[in-house]
Amino acid sequence: MFPSLGNGGYHVEHYGLTFDWVPDGNRLAATAVLTAKSTQRLTAFNLDLHGLDVRAVTVDGAPARYTRKGDELTVTPPVEIADGRAFTTTVVYDGVPDTIVDPDGSREGWMTTHDGAVALGEPAGGPGWFPGNHTQADKAAYDITVTVPDGLVAVSNGRLVEKTAAPEGKTAFHWRADEPMASYLAMLAIGHFDVSEGTIAGVPSYIAVDPQAASPETEAVPEILGTMIPWASDRFGPYPFGATGAVVVDMPDLEYSLETQTRPFFDGSPGGETVIHEMAHEWFGDLVTPGTWQDMWLNEGFATYAEWLWAEDHGGPTAAEAAAQTYAESPAEGQGMWAFPPADPGSPENVSRAPMYQRGALALQKVRAAVGDEVFFTILRTWLSEHRYGTVATADFTALCTRLSGQNLGPTVFEPWLFEDAKPEW
Ligand SMILES: [Zn+2]
Repeated sequence: MFPSLGNGGYHVEHYGLTFDWVPDGNRLAATAVLTAKSTQRLTAFNLDLHGLDVRAVTVDGAPARYTRKGDELTVTPPVEIADGRAFTTTVVYDGVPDTIVDPDGSREGWMTTHDGAVALGEPAGGPGWFPGNHTQADKAAYDITVTVPDGLVAVSNGRLVEKTAAPEGKTAFHWRADEPMASYLAMLAIGHFDVSEGTIAGVPSYIAVDPQAASPETEAVPEILGTMIPWASDRFGPYPFGATGAVVVDMPDLEYSLETQTRPFFDGSPGGETVIHEMAHEWFGDLVTPGTWQDMWLNEGFATYAEWLWAEDHGGPTAAEAAAQTYAESPAEGQGMWAFPPADPGSPENVSRAPMYQRGALALQKVRAAVGDEVFFTILRTWLSEHRYGTVATADFTALCTRLSGQNLGPTVFEPWLFEDAKPEW
């Protein structure tokens, strides 16, 4: 779907990313240190990087040759790397980072804001700000250090290890994300934020709010997190990360929020449903991640279903009622949520369209109706525990349903709701 994303031959275990950002001219100077392990003998390997100027590349400290073609940075180490070897690649680069526009018109990569900048990655924005193996199938730990002029705050994933004074009136923010993270879930936000630090539901929390996005809804975010995390831990399994929080930035033209790992990003004052949706992704999408964008419904169908479950458990309609209503209000065959089957979106402009969300959630309701509540929730919890910090495909889910229910749901649920073009009968 996004053929330039991801490379073979190695697995990245850790990214050490250092950025110095100058607002005047939106200039970025950066160093990326990738600690990786080869999965085959390597005479050369590729990293994904979009734009920017590469100044130097070293492998295990020795200068390496490199070439660039499109978004591929090909590195030739001075000495061939044997299979199964740990090696460290350092890329020094700078320039004015690009905003990346997807086939569906949405924007990601590096974006300037009214008083700072934001970097987001889903699905193809990662190469816009750091070189890496930008496939969600290769998760890694991250240290992200960002130096900005005094007064600005730089927020990223995980926990703030330290905030230190830097020369020339600057401040460095060092963030660490310990648990494995797909690169599209890495995030950076720079601005004049109001910050609240503390603990929410027993998890260290860091919430950064752009004063322009202040509102009663934004003020309610900590309370929603405080209710949502214990609820989801009970329903789905323990909260999987060592940090939580949120970033709220006034970006009226962005038109999406994102489940950036440990710290969801909101493009403005968020409604409660949006907070629930993005937080549900911390389990469905971040902890357990579809290995290809073809399987985006494993993200969005589950997060949409989690919204319905939340309502069911908090005095709203049941998920069955929400599903029935969604179906009743849905358009004719071939349109909207019926434009294509969720497990077969076909082309990259479809990965964030309605079939992935609503029709994916309807498929889950059909599974629940077929297997009963006890087995259904066992399926959800087993899905997350068996694949924790890993990647998955639709076939893994259908096989798990068969195994735990003892039923063949293919002809009654999976074929009509996930794989076939036609609008199924409710
Ligand atoms: Zn979502």
